[in-house]
Amino acid sequence: TTTQDALDVAGLSVRYGRSITALRDVNLRVGDGEVVTLMGLNGAGKSTLARAITGLLPAQGGSIAAGSIRSFGEDLAHRSPRAIVRHGVAQTLEGRRIFGGMSVSENLDMGGVTVRGAELRANREQMFELFPRLAERRDQAAGLLSGGEQQMLAVARALMSSPRLLVLDEPTLGLSPKLVTFVGDAIRAIQEAGTSVLLIEQNATMALAVADRGYVLEHGRIIHEDTAANLRSDEGLQRLLLGLG
Ligand code: ATP
Repeated sequence: TTTQDALDVAGLSVRYGRSITALRDVNLRVGDGEVVTLMGLNGAGKSTLARAITGLLPAQGGSIAAGSIRSFGEDLAHRSPRAIVRHGVAQTLEGRRIFGGMSVSENLDMGGVTVRGAELRANREQMFELFPRLAERRDQAAGLLSGGEQQMLAVARALMSSPRLLVLDEPTLGLSPKLVTFVGDAIRAIQEAGTSVLLIEQNATMALAVADRGYVLEHGRIIHEDTAANLRSDEGLQRLLLGLG
């Protein structure tokens, strides 16, 4: 662990109210330039970790009970979502949450809260290069996009703030196999452009195909941590992630 890790979560415990402990003593890191995946079944606590990183816990009635969340040398715990985006950490929310009545371009601009003018336009053009389908539909209302296209828009919107760390919460949820492959390719392109990625996924096949390393969360605890190559060949783990184990 170095202070220049994109993410260094140490001893993190999170609660909702008094009685629900959603994360217990979680340790997880994303090195600068790495793609790291966090896998686990429904209710394991994946979204809770994403919310803790991006400052969205209080809005959900959650709070950090213990531990630290460091990114490029600064502690993000207890900071506002806006301050965290300014620090260079962006997230796509599970379930997309695009603005249906606004155009594709306007949705992208909403994500560029930390950039202005020429940089905003340049980032937008870069997103249209990465996602040509969005370019063709730039003036169309986002609510008219297909599910897969909305998912792409959510990823592109998060990238608009030129983040150093991108947190993706289930970007392949509900996508066809072809689009899942496309999202995987996009994540590689994002990594090549210099952004570190924490990829939260239930689709272990896709996640382990693009990630460098992975963690498995069960009932709020990390139960496995290894290289993606080792996790890919772990049959017991595959069964567990399919809910059979
Ligand atoms: P999924 O894959 O279904 O989205 P997840 O792994 O993201 O699941 P979380 O949504 O983080 O899991 O939920 C972890 C635990 O915390 C669950 O037991 C859930 O019921 C609980 N929880 C989540 N959000 C809240 C909340 N706002 N208030 C109370 N409990 C919550």
